[in-house]
Amino acid sequence: MHGFTYYSSKLSIEEKIALAEYFYEKHGRDLTADSEINRLLGLYRKEISRSCELMEKFGVVTECAMCATQVPGGGCCGAGIEDWYDEFVLLINLLLGRKIPAERLGKKDCLFLGPTGCQLFARHHFCVNYLCLRITDLLSSAELSDLRAQSGKELFLCWQLERILRTKLKNRE
Ligand code: SF4
Ligand code: SF4
Repeated sequence: MHGFTYYSSKLSIEEKIALAEYFYEKHGRDLTADSEINRLLGLYRKEISRSCELMEKFGVVTECAMCATQVPGGGCCGAGIEDWYDEFVLLINLLLGRKIPAERLGKKDCLFLGPTGCQLFARHHFCVNYLCLRITDLLSSAELSDLRAQSGKELFLCWQLERILRTKLKNRE
């Protein structure tokens, strides 16, 4: 791709989304046919689903959806956080069959915030890890510890996938 760079902090979020889509169009089929990538994608999908189940069970989903969609600026989902994403986490969303939102709900909102909360499936470690006082007050210490342990499993798989994708794509571009 013309102007391609692996230093994605220099790219705008629109350029990172375009780059992720370019990678997906050009290499998506080969990447998902790779047995190790396919295995990691399957495990990652399961761990994200488990994280969602736990957040649902502990009431975090409802609390965050209310906060993110009713508080101006989206609670902790404010404009600018999308810039912390790189093309690889965005590519992972595409490899998992998820779309990347491209239209911002409100001027003060993160680009990926939708009417019922975050629209991404694979998320940045900040988004997975961050729990404000409202949430930490809501959960028991056992629930908090279960959630933290589950977030760790999810993020470890994301890291493994990012690492392998970076290596594979570096050798192809
Ligand atoms: S973590 Fe806290 S600030 Fe962020 S969306 Fe949830 S309730 Fe709101
Ligand atoms: S990516 Fe999702 S969870 Fe993270 S700040 Fe944006 S809307 Fe919130």
